[in-house]
Amino acid sequence: MNLVRPSRPVAARVVSNELCMQGKSASFVKHLVIDVGDTPLAGAVLPGQSFGVIPPGRDADSKPHKVRLYSSASPSWGEDGVACHLATTPKRLIDEYRPRPDDDPDDHRLFLGVCSNYLCDLKPGDRINVSGPNGRRFLLPEDPAAHDYLFLATGTGIAPFRGMLLELLESPRGPCRSRIDLVMGSPYTTDLLYDDLFRDLSARHPNFRYHTAISREPEGRGRYVADCLRAAHDHFGALLAGGRTRMYRCGVIGMQTDVFRLLGELGLAAGYLRLSDRLLGAPPTQWSDADLARHAKPTERCRLELY
Ligand code: FAD
Repeated sequence: MNLVRPSRPVAARVVSNELCMQGKSASFVKHLVIDVGDTPLAGAVLPGQSFGVIPPGRDADSKPHKVRLYSSASPSWGEDGVACHLATTPKRLIDEYRPRPDDDPDDHRLFLGVCSNYLCDLKPGDRINVSGPNGRRFLLPEDPAAHDYLFLATGTGIAPFRGMLLELLESPRGPCRSRIDLVMGSPYTTDLLYDDLFRDLSARHPNFRYHTAISREPEGRGRYVADCLRAAHDHFGALLAGGRTRMYRCGVIGMQTDVFRLLGELGLAAGYLRLSDRLLGAPPTQWSDADLARHAKPTERCRLELY
């Protein structure tokens, strides 16, 4: 953790920066590979950890921009087996400006996130200031073969699972034979990230199953990650009921509450959540987002990375 502080970042070089969606899409997500050279970050970032990026320039208060975190998408031996190469999955933050209470309510200019757009614009050879590694909880267990896994991703929340799946299935020491399921949620098929890689891994490793939950296309409308679990509850219920299963959830904040309610409905919440009496006294279908945020604490077997 924090081998390189954001106040004293090290310089990395961009190796490649390619779009990584399935085709034409309203979101722009890149697979960015950087070379951290012989800095302390080389070989030091584990899947599930993130690293910091300090964008150049200054903010509206003329202060240097603050560090932003990006999940490593690489296994521990580095991207493509090169220990000093590190990948991540930046998504451009592009939106219409959302006025704050003191702003002009008719201010509808384009809002561009500083660091995500900086990263997506980078070209091979460009220099970038980085720090890290960050994160000590969203990690694979020390003995990966002693556990089964359910990975739940939305959007760029897939990044750590790319690294973890490569770590588990493509290790030079041989593949992990544990049961591993990945559910990837996205609005459209074209927004699926690293889809080819996951299909290839599932074709080559019978213990790995890859599922997609596409929410805005006609045949799957309204189908989110929790709906995918619910629809195949025999399959996922058996996985979740196993005492050695770990559940990891990464992506936008909020969507985990549907999964928590489903755990309650299946009678499996106890393994993954510590619930207050308030929640234990109510049927899971009535657990509100606010109650879950306050009164449900993840156990060792439930790891969350939400942003
Ligand atoms: P900023 O310039 O910082 O803008 C974001 C800020 O603007 C927020 O405060 C938000 O409330 C506000 N804002 C947003 N939209 C609007 C709007 N329309 N109008 C007005 N204000 C608005 N991101 C990835 O893309 N890939 C990753 O792998 C990844 N991994 C992460 C891992 C961790 C552990 C964490 C904590 C975050 C991760 N992120 C990742 C998110 C990333 O750190 C940045 O938050 C994200 O890229 C946006 O940064 P930015 O500089 O582009 O936006």
